[in-house]
Amino acid sequence: MTRRRIVLPGIIALGSNLGDRVGILSEAVRQIRDIAGITVTAVSGLVESHAVKPQGTDASSPDYLNAVVLVQSALHPEQLLVELGAIESRLGRVREERWGDRTLDLDIISFGPLRIDSESLTLPHPRAWERPFVIVPWLQIEPDAVLAGHGRIDALPAARSSEVWDFDSGSLFGRLD
Ligand code: AMP
Repeated sequence: MTRRRIVLPGIIALGSNLGDRVGILSEAVRQIRDIAGITVTAVSGLVESHAVKPQGTDASSPDYLNAVVLVQSALHPEQLLVELGAIESRLGRVREERWGDRTLDLDIISFGPLRIDSESLTLPHPRAWERPFVIVPWLQIEPDAVLAGHGRIDALPAARSSEVWDFDSGSLFGRLD
């Protein structure tokens, strides 16, 4: 019997606040495209914001660049998380402190209609709804998107936040080849 592979849409958020941020994010998108079973169908523009630490906004740390990609995935989300972790490691992420500066952070924001709460993965991502650096670039590529449990993302306060600003460096897609 042949097993049919179920393909679901997923949203992956990318962030970097150390090193050559644009180069690292471009390379991360390229490596996501190279994962077998994944097709990248849209890449947002880049947004920039101050780092957020447990005490609040920290303008003395390097600023973050963030983007969001839309994928069609035949991988189970836990498998996708492993692949994304491998990309983080290859691009030099060192985990020191939970809220620490990082060369690359990759989060799965949502994955079709799936709701997961396992030891390694929570879907939809529990904090995505309140993060302007996720919601603002996501809206660029999916204006009618809905986040399970939170409704349309264009209605979220994070969609109108002034905490993120556009960072013009050409599109990451433009830098893929
Ligand atoms: P972070 O420091 O934000 O990269 O946290 C990564 C940790 O969060 C990893 O141990 C993941 O297993 C876990 N995690 C739980 N849910 C998610 C998600 N939706 N996307 C990415 N990492 C997740």
